[in-house]
Amino acid sequence: MKPSGKPPAGLVPKKAAAVSTRPGFPLRLKTDAGQLSATKNVAVSAHSAGATAMNVEINRLQRPVPSGLGLDSHAVRARMVQKLAAQGVSDAQVLAAMGNVERHRFVDSALVNQAYEDTSLPIGLGQTISKPNVVARMLELLMRSDQGQRGKLGRVLEIGTGCGYQAALLGQLATEVYSIERLRGLHDKARENLRPFRLPNVHLLFGDGMVGYAKGAPYAVIISAAGGEAIPDAWIDQLAVGGRLVAPLQAANGQQALVVLDKTAQGVRQTLLEAVHFVPLKSGTS
Ligand code: SAH
Repeated sequence: MKPSGKPPAGLVPKKAAAVSTRPGFPLRLKTDAGQLSATKNVAVSAHSAGATAMNVEINRLQRPVPSGLGLDSHAVRARMVQKLAAQGVSDAQVLAAMGNVERHRFVDSALVNQAYEDTSLPIGLGQTISKPNVVARMLELLMRSDQGQRGKLGRVLEIGTGCGYQAALLGQLATEVYSIERLRGLHDKARENLRPFRLPNVHLLFGDGMVGYAKGAPYAVIISAAGGEAIPDAWIDQLAVGGRLVAPLQAANGQQALVVLDKTAQGVRQTLLEAVHFVPLKSGTS
């Protein structure tokens, strides 16, 4: 598939373009044609391989999502995107997704004012959402892969759903997203956070991401938001030939670095990049 040249579908509130003190609501999914589709019937399906299988049908929006941003969040995001571009993020689809997805809806109301700063933020249960620059960098590494060069990514596996922010971004960049979280509290929170968005292509799973999700394999790309001492074999097995994996990896000196792993017909090529600070990859569920 060739890139269409059009911006990817965006996650924006109803009155995203309008200057308002609060983002519009309900949230709507903007299509390529700039159309907004209704979001009353949101289906978030979740599957599980060895984890808890679920199919969640959410029929209507239960509650307004707190905004707390006393300004036009679209403009704030546009500034964040400008900064990201100035910092070297150049992929148009990544920048468009970062501009579309409302990060402030994924953090606690007390942190909303920091949502568009280049800082990591706590999301509960001792976990953090990465700073926008790191998220954009990882997504860009995915889009620069052979898979990404074809336009939209195919099936994506995300390990560490956390609050669901990156899953929402991936939902813009890929045809299908399978996102696994090992902490029930965060899995539930992500489901709640994503509920107002119409994201039928984002599947939330509760389980141990170290075993991947065989049912969705092979994956065009795999991305982990948690770092271990080794890349689990299951991830490499479930990665398509020609696919790319991006994850933090703990090096021998105990420091984490970003690793890019490309799976080719000849084998696996691993490239170590810059130092990063991600939460640890842990086995089991809790
Ligand atoms: N991408 C997330 C970032 C979450 S932080 C976001 O946008 O919010 C990383 C997450 O990885 C944490 O929630 C942590 O609980 C989770 N995690 C760690 N080990 C895991 C594992 N084996 N399987 C699934 N999730 C895991």
